[in-house]
Amino acid sequence: ARGHRDVAAAARHFVGGKVPLGLKRKALRVLVTGGAGFVGSHLVDRLLERGDSVLVVDNLFTGRKDNVVHHFGNPNFEMIRHDVVEPILLEVDQIYHLACPASPVHYKYNPVKTIISFRSFTNVVGTLNMLGLAKRINAKFLLTSTSEVYGDPLQHPQVETYWGNVNPIGVRSCYDEGKRTAETLTMDYHRGANLEVRIARIFNTYGPRMCIDDGRVVSNFVAQALRKEPLTVYGDGKQTRSFQYVSDLVEGLMKLMEGEHVGPFNLGNPGEFTMLELAKVVQDTIDPNARIEFRQNTQDDPHKRKPDISRAKELLGWEPKIPLREGLPLMVSDFRKRIFGDQDTAAA
Ligand code: NAD
Ligand code: UDP
Ligand code: UDP
Repeated sequence: ARGHRDVAAAARHFVGGKVPLGLKRKALRVLVTGGAGFVGSHLVDRLLERGDSVLVVDNLFTGRKDNVVHHFGNPNFEMIRHDVVEPILLEVDQIYHLACPASPVHYKYNPVKTIISFRSFTNVVGTLNMLGLAKRINAKFLLTSTSEVYGDPLQHPQVETYWGNVNPIGVRSCYDEGKRTAETLTMDYHRGANLEVRIARIFNTYGPRMCIDDGRVVSNFVAQALRKEPLTVYGDGKQTRSFQYVSDLVEGLMKLMEGEHVGPFNLGNPGEFTMLELAKVVQDTIDPNARIEFRQNTQDDPHKRKPDISRAKELLGWEPKIPLREGLPLMVSDFRKRIFGDQDTAAA
């Protein structure tokens, strides 16, 4: 410990607070499964910026090469097209395990194949493989779980100690139960194999690079308003969600990985909105004349959701910084480019 203090004192001694080259923190080799996806690609940006080497494993099921193409040619970046349900041998220091078909469209429109072959299966077998890998090479393992483990919650806001209210045989259970099992496996490896693990329970997140047609509410509303289509509000629109901007989430994930606590930790923005309020924010941001069209809601839709983030605040020193009305415009300009192409953006 004394040695550490000496190094820190020496580092502080240099003008500008810059750590001299010889005293820099060792660059890590980090695996990001699902790194070509929405959240994963933003995480990859930050890890590379920090000076780490990043290896992405992604089957490009919902991810896109475009999300990481700006790193092609960077010697610290590598991508392997691979499905995590197949075993793989790699050597890394840390594993951020994000790979998972996260879009609701898939389970709503193609339940049997999607549920069995992709959602539950990826969450269970994919997570098992990544845990087996972490165990073999003694890497630190972070699981991106979800607020859906709370189901249709009977406690509000949701605290990490709440065990949830999940329908095990409903249309959403492939996702909810898949992630609950992934959490179980992660803790089993922690207890049984002494693996260093971290669990994040992520609440609804939005931002640039989100899949345009993946059926989530923020991407739907933004794409609909830009295309001059009506905003589709499911049910009466009084159900609530809490929306977090992607850079806040990425900071939380990195703090969790580097910190000393296993979790689970809620990572979300406590700002709570009904779907009608969200529609209003989208109207104010994109098109005040955008119409609203009510549609039948899906089965087992959680009535409300809002994270209690006291634990992350206290133990990780983390809290989100970007409110919905600030984050949404950043996503809108990205969607505009992707929907209309660069040329029309100038005109828009
Ligand atoms: P995403 O669909 O953009 O990213 C998931 C990535 O995983 C994609 O690139 C996809 O191609 C890849 N993938 C899927 N199955 C795979 C497989 N079998 N093998 C290899 N790669 C595979 O979704 P996202 O929003 O970026 O989600 C990332 C993680 O965060 C997921 O685990 C998701 O469950 C979790 N999460 C996200 C949110 C959110 O609001 N975005 C909320 C809660 C939890
Ligand atoms: N695994 C992997 N890469 C590795 C080590 C393990 O993909 O480097 C997979 C392995 O194929 C197995 C899973 O992880 O399906 C769990 O591995 P573990 O060693 O924990 O269990 P076992 O193989 O003994 O059942
Ligand atoms: N929703 C909506 N219109 C849409 C898509 C979703 O009103 O076009 C609703 C959906 O019924 C749910 C909420 O928005 O109540 C959030 O849905 P999403 O699929 O984005 O996230 P999750 O249900 O997983 O929190």
